[in-house]
Amino acid sequence: MASSTATKPVLVVTGTSGAGKGTLVQELLRRVPEVALAVSATTRERRPGEEDGVHYWFLSQEEFDRRFAANEFLEHIAFPWGQRSGTLWSELDRIRGEGRVPLLELEPNGALTVQRHVPGAVTIFVTAPSLEELERRLRERATESAGEIEERLQLAREQLEQSRECTYVIVNDDIGRAAKELVSIVRRELQESTATMRA
Ligand code: 5GP
Repeated sequence: MASSTATKPVLVVTGTSGAGKGTLVQELLRRVPEVALAVSATTRERRPGEEDGVHYWFLSQEEFDRRFAANEFLEHIAFPWGQRSGTLWSELDRIRGEGRVPLLELEPNGALTVQRHVPGAVTIFVTAPSLEELERRLRERATESAGEIEERLQLAREQLEQSRECTYVIVNDDIGRAAKELVSIVRRELQESTATMRA
């Protein structure tokens, strides 16, 4: 019996900013305990309620640079508004060391980088039903300035193109329905990888 954890997938949830992927990811983690979220590192300011080591590792620009130079990142992104975020290899090691399946929540460039470099990666793109709906959600969240919302919308238009390269696309028209779809995709992928390991 082959039992290498290397054949277990790395799951990546991606999508346009404001499409609701954060909520879907929380629901997935609650319903499928085998899956664990890799905590990204970021240079952005902490939002109310966010905790270091839980929502992100909040790093200074200098610390981010140092870790980047030491090749500690699997992938990273520099956003036009100055923020940088990235996935640390140590997070994948930590989660696989617990015998669990890593889940990354990334913007689409990062997701496609992981798809190209990590064998067995499964990428799931979450999108709002329309750009108008996306704008409404971003304004409702209101943690960004008007200029930042415009930049995020422009980015969203470009990101939608990248959904075609992902393994799955989920339209978040209704959060309950979209969560069910995400859970069933992940359960099926985990079953298939277990079946492969037993073969
Ligand atoms: P936020 O700043 O709103 O938490 O996240 C902004 C965007 O950055 C989201 O699309 C989120 O998925 C993405 N993101 C968060 N962490 C990472 C990361 O480690 N790498 C990449 N490529 N994107 C990330």
